[in-house]
Amino acid sequence: MLDKKKIKEDLEKERDLLIEDLKEMGRLNTESGEWEAVPEAMDFPEADPNDMADRFEDFESRSSLVNVLAPRLNNILKALKGLNRESFGLCVVCKNEIEPARLEANPAATTCKEHLEN
Ligand SMILES: [Zn+2]
Repeated sequence: MLDKKKIKEDLEKERDLLIEDLKEMGRLNTESGEWEAVPEAMDFPEADPNDMADRFEDFESRSSLVNVLAPRLNNILKALKGLNRESFGLCVVCKNEIEPARLEANPAATTCKEHLEN
């Protein structure tokens, strides 16, 4: 028997952590609904070229981290939405219960192992 309440609590915890991380490195573009990286706040705008290169590298690594975290957050939000559905935990193809281990690994899963999404 799936413990929906526990899954929901875990998801909400992970969601809050992800949002905190994302807020440190970027901002939510309210128009597109996408997270985007922002450069670290500049203490000295007239920084020398070496600093600028460092900052650029820093921004690059922030961007790639945001690109990893944002899809994870979206997946969790999707899963939280799915939790409210009557059919949560059931495969959309065969209507059988999805393996609990699979749901734990990916709470947004909508198919059993046999009917894995592409
Ligand atoms: Zn199935």
